[in-house]
Amino acid sequence: MGKFIFITGGVVSSLGKGIVASSVGRLLRSRGLSIFMQKLDPYINIDPGTLSPYQHGEVYVTDDGAETDLDLGHYERFTNQSLTKLSNITAGRIYQNVIRKEREGKYLGKTVQVVPHITNEIKEHIKKAAKTSGADVIITEIGGTVGDIESLPFLEAIRQIRRELKEENTLFIHNVLLPYLPTSGELKTKPAQHSVKELGSLGIQPDFIVLRSEKNVTKDIKEKIALFCDVNENHVFVCRDVDIIYEVVLEMRKQKMDDEICNHFHLSTPASNLKNWEALVQKIKNLKEEINIAIVGKYVSLHDAYLSVCEAIKAAGYFYNVKTNILWINSEEVNEDNVSLVLKDADGIVVPGGFGQRGTEGKIITLRYARKNNIPLLGICLGMQLMAVEFARNVLNLQDANTTEFDDKTQHPVIHLLPNQYKGIDLGGTLRLGAYDLELKSSSKVYPFYRHHPISERHRHRYEFNNNYISLFENHGMMISGINPKNKLVEVIELDNHPYFVGCQFHPEFKSRPNHPHAFFIGLINAVLNQKKRK
Ligand code: GLN
Repeated sequence: MGKFIFITGGVVSSLGKGIVASSVGRLLRSRGLSIFMQKLDPYINIDPGTLSPYQHGEVYVTDDGAETDLDLGHYERFTNQSLTKLSNITAGRIYQNVIRKEREGKYLGKTVQVVPHITNEIKEHIKKAAKTSGADVIITEIGGTVGDIESLPFLEAIRQIRRELKEENTLFIHNVLLPYLPTSGELKTKPAQHSVKELGSLGIQPDFIVLRSEKNVTKDIKEKIALFCDVNENHVFVCRDVDIIYEVVLEMRKQKMDDEICNHFHLSTPASNLKNWEALVQKIKNLKEEINIAIVGKYVSLHDAYLSVCEAIKAAGYFYNVKTNILWINSEEVNEDNVSLVLKDADGIVVPGGFGQRGTEGKIITLRYARKNNIPLLGICLGMQLMAVEFARNVLNLQDANTTEFDDKTQHPVIHLLPNQYKGIDLGGTLRLGAYDLELKSSSKVYPFYRHHPISERHRHRYEFNNNYISLFENHGMMISGINPKNKLVEVIELDNHPYFVGCQFHPEFKSRPNHPHAFFIGLINAVLNQKKRK
C-alpha cells in the first residue's frame, strides 16, 4: 500500500487548496513518484452533474465518464495525468452505497451508523483508489471547510486511517487563511489557530500547515503559527497570491515542501526535475503579443463555469507565445443590433457548451456574425449544435430548424435525440459521458494539430446531430469532418470557406494541458494569428 496525503482547509472556503493539492501532485511526480489524486466532496448530491454551474462552477468529465468537481481539472492540468471515477466521491454517493448495502442485508441486522458504516465506506473508497492505481502516493483532498457538519464523517475516516497506518504512511496538510487587516496593517493568525484547534478536537493534528496570504509572511508569523499550532517551523508553508497559478508549484518547491514530504514518508527519490514547468512559467511571464478571445455564454458572470475552456484557450496562446485576454460576453445580452459592437474587439470567439434555451438566441446571432465576417470561431457541444441550427436556418433556409432540446415539434430537427434514446429515465448520470473515439478527416483544419492518433475525446451531452441532414449540409459547404467510427454519430462540423468555423460535439477543453494544448484550441489561435497578419 502506498503513502497517503490528506489535504484539508480551514477558516474560509475557496482557499485554493485544490491548487495546493495539485502542486503537491506535480512536485511528487517530478521526483519520479507515481501518484493518484482524489477529492471527497461532503455534499449530498450523488455527483455534481446536476448542480447549477452557479453553485460549483463547471462539471469536469473524466475519460471513464465520471461527472466531477472542477478541482479535478486542476489535478489533471498540473499533473498531466488522467483521472478516473475513483477520483471524486460525494457524501451522497457514500450514503447511497451504504443504504444499498443495508437493503441487501449486508450488515447482518446491525444498526447502521455514521461510525463505523459511513466512515468504513469512505475508507474503503480511499483504499480502493490506492489499490487500483498502485500509486506510490495517494493525495486526497477533503472538500469543504473544517467545522462544517457535512465534513465530520470524512475527517473521522482520515483520522482512523492515520491510526491504522501510522504516521510514517500518512500526512495531514491543513490549509488556512491569514487574513490581512488594513486598519492595523497586520496579518492575523488567530483564525488559523482556531481552525487547527477545531481539527484537533476531531483528533487530527496537522503535520504541515499552508498559510494562504495576500501579503508577505514574515518569519515571526511562521514561528507563531508553529508554536501555537504545534507543528515544526519548517512545516509551515506560505502560499502567496500569484498571478499565474502554475507558479504555486515552484513556490512550494522553493520552500522545500517536496523534501519535507519525502522526509516524512522516509522516501528516498531523486531531486525534483521541474525544467519543463519552469520553462512554462517563464514563458507565461514573457508573453508579448496580445489577442482577445470572446467567450459567449450564459454563465459568464461566474468564470469558474468555463474554467477548463478558459485554461485551454490560454494554453493554446502560450503555444504561440501570445497572451490571450478573455472577453466575457453574456449571450442573453447579444442581439442583432448590438452584435457588431459587442464583438468589435474579439479576434476569435468560443461558444461553449450548455444546457437549456436561455441565452441561445444570442449565441445564434453571434454564430451568424462570425460566419459572415470570417471571425475564427470554435463551437463546443451546445455551441456546435447551435452552429448547425444557425446554418440550417440562414444558409439552408430551413426557417424553423432547431434542436429538439428547445423545440420538439420543429419541422427540421437538425439536432435531436436518437430514436428510443433516454425515454423516461433520470436526468442525473444519463448523458453520453466520457471518452469515445473520433475519426477525423485529414482534410479537416484541425487535423494537422493532432499529435496523436487514434483520437479519443470526452463527451457530456444528450442530443446528437441528425444524420439525415449530412448531405444537405455538405452540399452547402458545412463539412462533416469528424465522426464516431463505431456508431457514425457526427463529432465535428466545419465550414469550408472560412478561416476557422469549427464545431465539436465533445469537450476538447478537458484534454488540454498547460504545456500540451489541445488541437481544437491551437487551430483557433492559429487562425486568429493568421487573420491578424492578413489585416
Ligand atoms: N444540451 C446539449 C445536449 O445535451 C449540449 C450539452 C453540452 O453542451 N454539454 O446535448
